[in-house]
Amino acid sequence: MLQSIQHFIQKGMQSVSPCLLCSIDRQQHHSLCNDCWEQLPWFKQVVDRHEHSISCAFHYDFPIDRIIQSYKYEQQLHYQNLLAQSLLSLRLARVQAIVPMPISVERLKDRGYNQMLLVAHMMAKQLRIPVWQPVIRQVQHAQKGLSRLERLENIEQQFIIDPTEKRRFRKVLIIDDVVTTGSSIHALSTLLHQLHCTQVYAACIAAAQP
Ligand SMILES: [Zn+2]
Repeated sequence: MLQSIQHFIQKGMQSVSPCLLCSIDRQQHHSLCNDCWEQLPWFKQVVDRHEHSISCAFHYDFPIDRIIQSYKYEQQLHYQNLLAQSLLSLRLARVQAIVPMPISVERLKDRGYNQMLLVAHMMAKQLRIPVWQPVIRQVQHAQKGLSRLERLENIEQQFIIDPTEKRRFRKVLIIDDVVTTGSSIHALSTLLHQLHCTQVYAACIAAAQP
């Protein structure tokens, strides 16, 4: 009963709240109006990076680039529903758990939240599967001035298996915000295979040029 009332209130709010992008029309699609939703830089294709096929919802273009930036760095958390729904609109394989791209404790302290963990929780709720974080990320050093190989090594060293996480899943979905070279997905995926995952899928909100 309480849930249906909450649902009703939420629906009601959506229909009267203005679109998050244009502030003119009312929200119809996950916080956006019809026009703004349709005009997003939809991509909905798979990109191949580091021998991984990564499903991507958008091109990393306006206004998705701004949305991701403000969601990530300016606490504009009201975009999380839009971002979660964009990933859910992809043809995703059936998996047993969602693995959000981890961020280091330092970044977490600075930012106050892991933006992809929030999106993962929203997706997990709808898909009725757990969020799984068996890998932790150590200090993220700046990548500037490093060669391609040094960057790869640098990223791989950042990820370590969390010995306190005892749950195991075989088929999982990694989610991240922007894929560029795909090296962090590659590093995370390598450790997931070490944890006996047999199928590791990946989906990103937006694909940028490598
Ligand atoms: Zn709009």
